Amino acid sequence: MGRSSKDKRDVYYRRAKEEGWRARSAYKLLQINDDFNIFEGVTKVVDLCAAPGSWSQVLSKKLRGEAGHKSDAKIVAVDLQAMAPIPGVIQIQGDITKKSTAQAIISHFEGEHADLVVCDGAPDVTGLHDIDEYIQAQLLLAALNITTHVLKKSGTFVAKIFRGKDVTLLYAQLKIFFSMVTVFKPRSSRNSSIEAFVVCQGYSPPDGYVPNMSNPLLDQQYDLDFNSLEGPNRVIVPFLACGDLSGFDSDMTYPLELEPGKSTYTYTQPTQSPIDPPYKQACELRRSDMLLKQASSGLDETSRLIGERP
Ligand code: SAM
Repeated sequence: MGRSSKDKRDVYYRRAKEEGWRARSAYKLLQINDDFNIFEGVTKVVDLCAAPGSWSQVLSKKLRGEAGHKSDAKIVAVDLQAMAPIPGVIQIQGDITKKSTAQAIISHFEGEHADLVVCDGAPDVTGLHDIDEYIQAQLLLAALNITTHVLKKSGTFVAKIFRGKDVTLLYAQLKIFFSMVTVFKPRSSRNSSIEAFVVCQGYSPPDGYVPNMSNPLLDQQYDLDFNSLEGPNRVIVPFLACGDLSGFDSDMTYPLELEPGKSTYTYTQPTQSPIDPPYKQACELRRSDMLLKQASSGLDETSRLIGERP
């Protein structure tokens, strides 16, 4: 592949380089802002999962001006990876699912609150959808947990989300904390990707909710007795995978197990056979050779003729 083929294929990738953004993701935040006006009145913001830094660049430009010192808006950017400096952006290198990182972010606000928290966090995608969606959900919930510590009432939270099969659980949990939750797919996000962004506006935690650092989402400590949390403090439900790897995998085929001392397998009848099952007639027809495939019709198993012989 030539050096310019990616440029040809992806206009956002090409434009990002031309316009000085570190990643094409910049356009996603810009397009979210075009529709939701999320920067209005913002002077303090947290950018979670920020590397290589295009969202921080957008924030710096929009809130602090071209050179990064038109205002003293506070921008705190966090990522596992090191990030080259950006004017006016405070950087923290750390894992947002770790308590220590959450505490470092909170300490930068010294009791003050952020107006906006954004999170573009994504795991290194494995291609195993359930695992990718699970890790992405963990990142989002860890980001939400940090948000409950730093966001001002009525503030905004924007986060990447994978629209997998359990996504409605996440929407429901976000809806507990925000008066308005919208799912948005910017034009610059590829259609082939399951990514979208939740734009959560009007932060209003339930009465009596106390942000806490013993949240099982942080440090993946699921040994906390979840039932000991009471009332509104139970609202963030950990996204738990059930079972462990020692159980049988229901999608695998295993060899038949022989009884001790026997060399042949003994078939065990079902505990209770179905009473008058709908397929009974088909079984009887098959036994008497009355169930025929339509010769070379291309029709599948479900399209067999029952009881008709040529
Ligand atoms: N918004 C960024 C930009 O505009 O340049 C791009 C973010 S990139 C899609 C996803 C980032 O999530 C990666 O830099 C990755 O290191 C970060 N990440 C993934 N898991 C993380 C974690 N547990 N803690 C902190 N950062 C994480």
